[in-house]
Amino acid sequence: METSTTNAFIGLGANVGARRRSIEGALDAIDNLDHTQVVATSALYETKAQFVEDQPDFLNACAQLRTSLSPRTLLESLLHIEHSMGRVRRLDKGPRTIDLDILLYGDLVIDEEGLTIPHPGLAQRRFVLEPLNDIGAQVVHPVLGLTMAQLLQDLR
Ligand code: ADP
Ligand code: MG
Repeated sequence: METSTTNAFIGLGANVGARRRSIEGALDAIDNLDHTQVVATSALYETKAQFVEDQPDFLNACAQLRTSLSPRTLLESLLHIEHSMGRVRRLDKGPRTIDLDILLYGDLVIDEEGLTIPHPGLAQRRFVLEPLNDIGAQVVHPVLGLTMAQLLQDLR
């Protein structure tokens, strides 16, 4: 089934339990997926919870992957990792052991039921753009036509 590989960027977040261990465990699990390698990881950033503010601070990071999984298969794999790491969905935007989002998948633009790429929050969220800027500063947002560095600059 080997096809061409794509550069994808994943956002990771955790605010319950051993946050660093959850992020590192998720990175290992992603790297262990078939047809997928983690090729770069950002620093870890401590951030205040947004949206639902009465919850612990988050640890956020980003990873760059090379993958030949389809976007849908990658999403299912990430949801499976979230689930296997004990994430229970209770409150929307609430506390989570691990949150794994597909931020970018090459230049692809997808807006389907259950899967939007680029991730809709990307351009507004410092906790996404800061780690993304570590490893993908010159990557261009395929809809907005601006680099991650420019998008971060625009937030300041
Ligand atoms: P959030 O990350 O917005 O806080 P969840 O992690 O609970 O919310 O995700 C809810 C749903 O978001 C997932 O079941 C998934 O189908 C959907 N989703 C849509 N686009 C994406 C994406 N690019 N990456 C990850 N999940 C996505
Ligand atoms: Mg998510």
